[in-house]
Amino acid sequence: MNAAESNATPTEVEASTESVTKSNFIRDIIIADLQAGKHGGRVQTRFPPEPNGYLHIGHAKAICLDFGLAAEFGGKTNLRFDDTNPSKEETEYVDAIKEDVQWLGFQWDGLYYASDYFQQLYDWAVQMIKDGKAYVCDLTAEETREYRGTLTEPGKDSPYRNRSVEENLALFEGMKNGEFPDGSRTLRAKIDMASPNLNFRDPVMYRILHMHHHRTGDAWCIYPMYDYAHGQSDSIEQVTHSICTLEFEDHRPLYNWYIEQLGIFPSQQFEFDRLNLTYTVMSKRKLRQLVQDDLVNGWDDPRMPTLSGMRRRGYTPEAIRNFCASLGVSKTNGTTQLQQLEYYLREDLNKHALRVAAVLKPLKVVLTNYPDDLVEEMDAVNNPEDSSAGTRKVPFSKVLYIEQDDFREVPPPKFYRLSPGKEVRLRYGYIIKCEEVIKDADGNIVELHCTYDPETRSGSATSTRKVKATIHWVSATHAIDAEVRMYDTLFTKENPEDVEEGQDFTSNLNPNSLEVLTSKVEPSLKDATPGTRYQFERMGYFCVDPDSAPGKLVFNRTIGLKDTWAKIEQRGK
Ligand code: ATP
Ligand code: MG
Repeated sequence: MNAAESNATPTEVEASTESVTKSNFIRDIIIADLQAGKHGGRVQTRFPPEPNGYLHIGHAKAICLDFGLAAEFGGKTNLRFDDTNPSKEETEYVDAIKEDVQWLGFQWDGLYYASDYFQQLYDWAVQMIKDGKAYVCDLTAEETREYRGTLTEPGKDSPYRNRSVEENLALFEGMKNGEFPDGSRTLRAKIDMASPNLNFRDPVMYRILHMHHHRTGDAWCIYPMYDYAHGQSDSIEQVTHSICTLEFEDHRPLYNWYIEQLGIFPSQQFEFDRLNLTYTVMSKRKLRQLVQDDLVNGWDDPRMPTLSGMRRRGYTPEAIRNFCASLGVSKTNGTTQLQQLEYYLREDLNKHALRVAAVLKPLKVVLTNYPDDLVEEMDAVNNPEDSSAGTRKVPFSKVLYIEQDDFREVPPPKFYRLSPGKEVRLRYGYIIKCEEVIKDADGNIVELHCTYDPETRSGSATSTRKVKATIHWVSATHAIDAEVRMYDTLFTKENPEDVEEGQDFTSNLNPNSLEVLTSKVEPSLKDATPGTRYQFERMGYFCVDPDSAPGKLVFNRTIGLKDTWAKIEQRGK
């Protein structure tokens, strides 16, 4: 599948729910390697997050590929924390990442940290110095940049490039022993300052950073750079296929160079396109900014594209895996429509979510001809998609709530729900007719007086009349109050990076991305536990938020149903 096809609209998306990996070029490479007997028929992958934030939906694509491809060929996958930069890394992130990988449905074989390899990486650096392939350089960061040259101009050799092996060994040891301040020296690979690939122009291998590390504490004050650490870490773990995103393509020659110089296990790197989604940002740095500046309510805010936010919102791991399987794996970065993700979410929720009645914006209805004390138990179907889910009883009585949106005092054309003098069916109940609209002193509608037709009870022999619309309701005395958090996209623009000069992506935050409603839900939800997902009939999919407590239900709207009325209205405009 190419990038263009991967951006198909939801209806064009083929629903591939059975496998997390379908045909793609990386899979083809693995098959060819296996056929050629490479690595003795072994497939070993790794997922290497930097613990500097929570995982997002982009990481899910990488996880599904790393774990999915290995599993398909009987291979193994390590979870390796790429923790070589102590300034941004924390144990909180390590724990969150582990939880999210498991929630998504994957279990790693080995659990490793790049910091486990600090001693080995140091020893290898010493070996490279002895082999004349690395040197200690005293240029400042700015000088190093100047000396590097540009894409069109070659770089200049550092004046420290030809230090003797002995001097380099002594200085590097001094660096390790904390004798020099941060930034005063680096260890660099001695390659080629005129290479057309800038990454080859004597790349920095180690920098001095007197900083506490989340695992090694104060044992080290020099830290390896990503390029020097990543390939060797793969090699130590005998990773056969090291899969990463396209921005590392230019780093591949360096990845190979270190491995060749050291003569260690020949791991190989393969790059695929990053996932970008409309209406969201997908970089941990930016997501961290939203959290730290209190622009969202934490990493697991249900509006965030983090896996923890999506979980809280009500996403299922299956929906995310199916979405990832629907994505192309290609060599060109593109942007996927948010609707494609939502398609897979609805598809999965539709199969599994129990149906219940909830009135989000209540309007009181009094059935004037219904007996005052009568309560009838109506049979309601729990899930029409799953007959094994059974039925339940819902109480029906004289005073009910319906949605404010299901009533119009002056109905527009094609509005078939309730309006003065008109009839509508109450789902699992009766046909009712609006007789009178009651208003307060300010002219606001406060309740409707209706009559019901006793002959029309759903499922009864006498129910022969048909009306055009059926609406949902809850019984006023039985319903429970619930806080319902309605979400819209976190950004107003498809591409939040599309900003005015001098502004950043936060200028595109959607001021209306959260609306809190006080709603009425059917009594069967009394003991609903956090994380449980429901379809509120006609209103969408909702999930119980962890903020819920006994007597204080809180729901998140996961996603709406496709609202046919909104479409009709839009078309009319
Ligand atoms: P970020 O910029 O969000 O911090 P990153 O690439 O620095 O992302 P890492 O923790 O280093 O994040 O990434 C771990 C793995 O996940 C890497 O192999 C990386 O290529 C992959 N990955 C990160 N973002 C995406 C994305 N949007 N789509 C697909 N894979 C991704
Ligand atoms: Mg990174």
